[in-house]
Amino acid sequence: MPPHPKKKRSYGKKGRRWSHSQLDPVAISTCAQCHSPKPPHQVCPTCGYYGGREVISMTPEEPGQES
Ligand SMILES: [Zn+2]
Repeated sequence: MPPHPKKKRSYGKKGRRWSHSQLDPVAISTCAQCHSPKPPHQVCPTCGYYGGREVISMTPEEPGQES
């Protein structure tokens, strides 16, 4: 026979064990360039700017760039 708990764990005990496992709200910051919501510490997916300069050009690609 496998080991078996001697006593029933109460709902209060269960709740205290899981009290540290709540989810954090998703962090959202605002782009300094286009003021659209974006994830912090990441390049803006709307305008491609990060740290005051353009990192990814969001203009349409030249022909032959995309496969
Ligand atoms: Zn932006």
